[in-house]
Amino acid sequence: MSARDRLREYFEAHAGEVVSTKTLREVGGISEYARRIRELRDIEGMDILTHKDRAGLKPGEYLLASLKRKPAFSSAVNPQLRMQVLERNGFTCQLCGHGAGDPDPYNPSRKVRLHIDHIVPQQQGGGCTLDNLRVVCSVCNQARGNIQTPSESARNLIARIRRAPRAVQREVFVLLKKTFTE
Ligand SMILES: [Zn+2]
Repeated sequence: MSARDRLREYFEAHAGEVVSTKTLREVGGISEYARRIRELRDIEGMDILTHKDRAGLKPGEYLLASLKRKPAFSSAVNPQLRMQVLERNGFTCQLCGHGAGDPDPYNPSRKVRLHIDHIVPQQQGGGCTLDNLRVVCSVCNQARGNIQTPSESARNLIARIRRAPRAVQREVFVLLKKTFTE
C-alpha cells in the first residue's frame, strides 16, 4: 500500500474529524506527506480542508469535510494538462477574474483557490481536452453570491497581466488607478 493509499484510507475512516500533521506524518510514513495530501485533493478531488479553507482550523490541521469527490477535479485532468490550462488562463478565474491567493471576498481569512472546470460537464460528454477546460476559483466553484463575469476581452487582458512580472503589474495598476481616480 502506497503512502497515498494509506492517507486516503485514514482520511476516509476519520471523515469529519480534525487530523493533525503529526498523525498524518505517522500514517504516511514519509516526510513528503503534504505532497500526497495535495494529490488526494487536486487529483482525486477529496474534500480535504486546511486553515486556509476553514477559519476554525489551525495551521497543521486537516479535515476531510465530506466523502463526496469534487467532480471538477477529475482524475483524468493530469497535472501536466492542469498546468497548461492554468498557464493559458494566466492563473485567473475565468468567471470572476480572481487569482490564486486573493482573499476570499466572502471570508477574508480564507484564500481563493483555483480549480480546473469542465465547460461541458463530463456527465454530458465533455472531454478532458484543453478547449473544454478552464480555470474557475473556489468562490465561483461553490457558486456563492452573484458572480459578475468580466467580458472576454477583459479576461484575456487580466490573464496577460497576471503572467507579466510583478513590476509590470504594478505599473499597469498605477496607470489605471490614475485614469480612474482623476
Ligand atoms: Zn471566480
